[in-house]
Amino acid sequence: MKNIVASNLKMNLLSINEREAYLKRLGALLAGKKFTDTEIVLCAPFVHLEGFKKWKNKKVKRGAQNMFFEDKGSFTGEISPVMLKNFDCEYVILGHSERRKYIQESNQDVNLKVISALKNGIKPILCVGEDADQKRDGTDIVVEQLQDCLNGVSKGKIENVIICYEPVWAISSNNPDHLPTTNEVMSARLLIKKFLVAEYGAKITEKVKIIYGGSVAPDNAGTICVDSGMDGALVGKESLTPSSLVKIVEIIDGKPKT
Ligand code: PEP
Repeated sequence: MKNIVASNLKMNLLSINEREAYLKRLGALLAGKKFTDTEIVLCAPFVHLEGFKKWKNKKVKRGAQNMFFEDKGSFTGEISPVMLKNFDCEYVILGHSERRKYIQESNQDVNLKVISALKNGIKPILCVGEDADQKRDGTDIVVEQLQDCLNGVSKGKIENVIICYEPVWAISSNNPDHLPTTNEVMSARLLIKKFLVAEYGAKITEKVKIIYGGSVAPDNAGTICVDSGMDGALVGKESLTPSSLVKIVEIIDGKPKT
């Protein structure tokens, strides 16, 4: 199973010029490099999907940061999964904590989107994770999020979902100095695995990628993503610096094979 490093570019790259400069730099850094065990995914703002499609870099797959659950129609301001497909998006980030916080997205909203993405052949990168208060109180939010967001996802489809454990308290914009330990990430991974095994069985669970997100940087990717046994990373802030993103990919691609 390949690792995945997905970049969450968030609401950045404010102009076509900025986007082109970013892609030019990233393209130059990737030239001549071969990553045999890791897929790179750029999750761009919607307005850049066409530019990313035209970039045509074969080493990088495309993704979006959200979508609506209906395919077409009177849903002002929304983006259809069919549109994403037509702009070469193979992945979509769903359930990100910033959407839960600012747009009040519920697990039920996320569930509709997960089902719709899978129906349309797009792989959801499903974000789950506790916030600082839930961590302090020991509230088991991750299992509840998985249960609700994956409701109705069949045994035949679950391997197309990437589960991203993203503790909200460790996201760089929330708390620049806080990182989980390798053991904390490993425990979250085990919890997610246990849930998947109970729902889908051990054999199918082996095919589901579980990745880590939250302040991943070149100097910590080894300890929090590799040593914890994760299958990759979701990278926010550091993905805006192409050289950092490429370094993270190199670290994850070079991880000892199990
Ligand atoms: C994110 O919010 O999805 C994320 C990974 O952010 P950062 O890497 O900046 O913590």
